[in-house]
Amino acid sequence: MTVLVINSGSSSIKYQLVNPETGESIASGLVERIGEPEGHIEHNYNGTTTDINEPVPDHGVGLREVIRLFNEVGPNLDEAGIKAVGHRVVQGGKHFDKAAVIDDRVEGLIEELIPLGPLHNPAHLKGIKVARELFDVPNVAVFDTAFFQHLPAEAATYAIDREVAEKYQIRRYGAHGTSHQFISRKVTEMLGRDDLKQIVLHLGNGASVSAVVNGEAVDTSMGLTPLEGLVMGTRTGDIDPAAVFHLARQAGMSIDELDTLFNKQSGLKGLTGSNDMRSVWEMAHEGNENAIEALEVYIHRLLKYVGSYTAVMGGLDVLTFTAGVGENSWETRKMLLDRLAPFGVKYDADKNMVRSKEPRVISTPDSAVTVLVVPTNEELSIAQQAMEVI
Ligand code: ADP
Repeated sequence: MTVLVINSGSSSIKYQLVNPETGESIASGLVERIGEPEGHIEHNYNGTTTDINEPVPDHGVGLREVIRLFNEVGPNLDEAGIKAVGHRVVQGGKHFDKAAVIDDRVEGLIEELIPLGPLHNPAHLKGIKVARELFDVPNVAVFDTAFFQHLPAEAATYAIDREVAEKYQIRRYGAHGTSHQFISRKVTEMLGRDDLKQIVLHLGNGASVSAVVNGEAVDTSMGLTPLEGLVMGTRTGDIDPAAVFHLARQAGMSIDELDTLFNKQSGLKGLTGSNDMRSVWEMAHEGNENAIEALEVYIHRLLKYVGSYTAVMGGLDVLTFTAGVGENSWETRKMLLDRLAPFGVKYDADKNMVRSKEPRVISTPDSAVTVLVVPTNEELSIAQQAMEVI
């Protein structure tokens, strides 16, 4: 039994054929530079990579090529027991608190939500429309916002005029929910307890924190869009919205320019020139003052979220690191955990430095909070959620 997981972006399609029971990734690939003069397709199966360099005019041509590769290079999708196609969808608005089989109504709602997910939903729709034509198994939309659909009103509500908020659907939707749900469930399984107050730190290029009590999300750092919250690879995270008014008035920047500045040219990239945490650490080790300060700003923001979510939950049992930085950068973990020492957080320095793909506890038995590193697997989570709804 397998699920084809598709993450369709504006000029790319990432895919993975996953066994939702064992978690095995059977084949994977990428179509990129769709619509540009030189396209590229990569298909990985059985330890071999097939590369094709050819123009891919649109998502339809891209997905047809992917199906051709499955037929010619393998694995044959029917023989691999494909049961569903699972689509990652960033914005599910107020409509979806779990994955949904895609019919015309669901497709229409994803389309209606474009104003709330202008960078993502149009791109997802391209993949969805083509996949609905090409595959005769159910297509399922798995929403990044679903895990946060039932955030308490106190966490989801912005203090803005209610009529404006209602009319334009302004609230905190959160994002990365697939990962936060996957990780918090995994922690529950690992520790054999579901009555836990958890903080999940998803630190990748995009980054977010969630507070989870007894398996339910009670707060999260991303808001109306993924821009709010932590310092990210290229996003500002929290910033006084008046910076927008100021730049519009003083610098004459347009809304689109501001959107690009805040989403694509800020965060670590804005502070250091690189959005890659490895480079930022390298620069810091060489004494680059901007990089050293960027790390301090990054950790300061994280620390504030850990503190505020501990207060919101009335305590903290478990703190879990995940995603590219959270899983791999022992120095980033160390920098945060050292600041938590006054609260009784103790970790094993050697365990923290181990590189591993396995979920693991890195705190000491006498630590006030259990600290874990748990690799995320959004494709597996999407495959599992797709199977759950069909
Ligand atoms: P996304 O899925 O949001 O694109 P990832 O979860 O793959 O991102 O995380 C990418 C980030 O992880 C990059 O900033 C990268 O530098 C960082 N990263 C990966 N490996 C390491 C490492 N060994 N040390 C520090 N940072 C790392």
